[in-house]
Amino acid sequence: MDRGKKAVIIGGGIAGVQAAATLKDMSVTLISEEEFLPYYRMRIEEVLGGKDPESLYIHPLSWYEERGICYIQGSVTAIKEAAVILSDGREVPYDKLLIATGSRARMLSVPGGRKESYVLRCMSDALHLKDALEKAESFAIIGGGLLGLEAAYSVATDFNIPVSVVETAPYILPRQLDEDSAALLQEKLAEKGVTVYVSSTIESADDSFVYLKDGRKIAADVLCFSVGVNPAIKLAEEAGIRTGRGIVVDSHLRTSMENVYAAGDAAELDGRTFGLAMHAREMGTAAALSMMGEENDYRPSEPSALLKVGGIDVVSLGTPEGERKVETDGDKRRTYFIKDGVVNGVVLINDKASMMKAKAMLGKAYE
Ligand SMILES: Cc1cc2nc3c(=O)[nH]c(=O)nc-3n(C[C@H](O)[C@H](O)[C@H](O)COP(=O)(O)OP(=O)(O)OC[C@H]3O[C@@H](n4cnc5c(N)ncnc54)[C@H](O)[C@@H]3O)c2cc1C
Repeated sequence: MDRGKKAVIIGGGIAGVQAAATLKDMSVTLISEEEFLPYYRMRIEEVLGGKDPESLYIHPLSWYEERGICYIQGSVTAIKEAAVILSDGREVPYDKLLIATGSRARMLSVPGGRKESYVLRCMSDALHLKDALEKAESFAIIGGGLLGLEAAYSVATDFNIPVSVVETAPYILPRQLDEDSAALLQEKLAEKGVTVYVSSTIESADDSFVYLKDGRKIAADVLCFSVGVNPAIKLAEEAGIRTGRGIVVDSHLRTSMENVYAAGDAAELDGRTFGLAMHAREMGTAAALSMMGEENDYRPSEPSALLKVGGIDVVSLGTPEGERKVETDGDKRRTYFIKDGVVNGVVLINDKASMMKAKAMLGKAYE
């Protein structure tokens, strides 16, 4: 095991903080460009409802100090062979480097002359959106994925204004849900003041409305895009590290540059990028083990998603594709997706208690 060597981590997201917590017997420097200490990104919509940003911090500053982690608030502008360069010109030397730069929200550029649109990726986005919503009488969000729906639900609850969601797919959460479960969820959202426009595409937007391709117009004093993310790979690209959609890593989370590792949303493993907190956490641990010289061979877990909207718990495990087997029990509903003779995915509605059992069924025959 390497002892007393310098580990530097770029990015204070889930992957970066997890790696910092795992690294032992190395001097650790964590560099984060955000003006807040590392926080639970998945909960930033709570700020819309008035939560103090500091209440979302993963750890207080003392946690870093007690562990001897050197926390630098700054932006890395270049990766060199044995040091990274900060925007103020400082050089931070490393023996092992982890790139955990996460991803950036995509913003669509639409015609129509709208002056301002928002995304919801980091704490400062949430604070800007909150300011705008305080003066708004309507809100629209483009994208009916997990993040878009959670944001829509929060805004409808916290601001009590009409909220619209525009989704191109024929039903919401197409990656996590089957059509029937999605319809149930959509009904519950409607009860909370969220109108979902499925099979719909934005054509243009001015400062008051969003115009859909089918001719409908939707009130939108505030407009937010939730149309996916792009892994933050620029630093790696500029350093000559191999990239695809993400920073290409092997199962030890090693990049193509010696002593440089990548983890989380920014990383690409076996042609796949992830975009989920669970994988960022797993990869943060696995990268730290590799950086310490410990044997490990990272295999990503099956994706799972948990959502609570309008009083309904939704759990989605694996991939919801294949022949369906539905089990119902009062308001509980379990849908199993069978492909090639085995359970390929499971969607549980109002039945979180069955999650472990359902997880164990993935990859096995449905009985
Ligand atoms: C609102 C919201 C809700 C979500 N909900 C869920 C959910 O329910 N379930 C789920 O699994 N996932 C969810 N996600 C996705 C999840 O948050 C991400 O998968 C996870 O945060 C990725 O972690 P990461 O550490 O790779 O990157 P990030 O959390 O993106 O952190 C990367 C950090 O690196 C910093 N950085 C980038 N470049 C530099 C640089 N050059 N110098 C210094 N710092 C830099 C960034 O500013 C950022 O702070 C959600 C995301 C959002 C935004």
